[in-house]
Amino acid sequence: MAAERQTWEVYALRYAHNGNRTRPENFVLPEPDGHDVPMPLDYFVWVIRNEHRTFVVDTGFGAVAAKKRGVPLLRTVPEALATIGVDAATVKDVIVSHLHYDHAGGVGEFPEATFHLQDAEMAYATGRHMCFEAVQRPFEVEDVVAFVRKLYGGKVSFHDGDAELAPGVTIHMIGGHSAGLMCVRVWTERGWVVVASDCAHFYENIELGKPFVICFDLGAMMNGFNTIRLLADSPDHIVPGHDPLVLQYYPPVSEELRGIAHRLDVPPTKG
Ligand SMILES: [Zn+2]
Ligand SMILES: [Zn+2]
Repeated sequence: MAAERQTWEVYALRYAHNGNRTRPENFVLPEPDGHDVPMPLDYFVWVIRNEHRTFVVDTGFGAVAAKKRGVPLLRTVPEALATIGVDAATVKDVIVSHLHYDHAGGVGEFPEATFHLQDAEMAYATGRHMCFEAVQRPFEVEDVVAFVRKLYGGKVSFHDGDAELAPGVTIHMIGGHSAGLMCVRVWTERGWVVVASDCAHFYENIELGKPFVICFDLGAMMNGFNTIRLLADSPDHIVPGHDPLVLQYYPPVSEELRGIAHRLDVPPTKG
C-alpha cells in the first residue's frame, strides 16, 4: 500500500551570480535583436523538507570552479543552506539533477548523504561522449571522479527514469540539456511544484519554447518542456534553474534573507 502523500516546504537558495552573460550565449537560435543584450544567470541549490525528511537538490560549485569559470560565489553552498537551518554535514539525501559543474561540484560538502542520480547521467559523464572537449565543457573531471568514489563508497542511489523518493517527492527523467538530466516534483500546500533545475534555465526557455545553448538532445529538451508542464499544476508551479526572476517572484524567508533564501511553496507574485 502506498504511503500517504506528505506536504513539503520548498526553498531556492542562491549561492552565485553571473552578470556577464548575454542573450546569444544562452539560446541556441539567433534572435534578431538579441546581440549583446545582458541576460544574467543566478545559481541555486534547492531544499525540500518537512518534519520527516530533508532533501537537498544539487550541490553547487566551490571556490576552485568559481575562479576557473569566472563566476564569483556570493556564499558557499553550506553557508546558503545554513541560512535556513540545514547542516550540509548531516544531510542524508541529495538529489543530483545532472553532473554539470554548477550542480555536482560540492559533493564533498555532504559526507553523510546518499546521492540520487540517473543511470544515464553517470553513463554519459563517464562514457564515449566525453572524448570530445566540446561535450566535456560543462563538466569537471574531479566532480565526476568524486561521484565514482561515492559510488564505490556505497553512497549513490541510481534511478532509471521516474521514481518516488518519498510520499510527495518524485524525480522525473528529462534529458535534453544533459543525457540524464532530471527534474523534481514536490507536493506543497499550493499543489504540485516542479523544481526544474536545468530542464528550464529561464522562464523564457519553457514559456516561449526556446532551447538553451548547451544541448545534448534537442528533441528531448523540447519534449521535456511539455513533460514539465504536465507535471506541474500550472505554469506558476514551474521553477526554472537559473532565472534571476525567481527571486523577484517568490518571497524571501525573511527580509535579511532577501536574495539568498526564498520560499517556493507559496504562490509567486508576478509583475
Ligand atoms: Zn547544466
Ligand atoms: Zn546549471
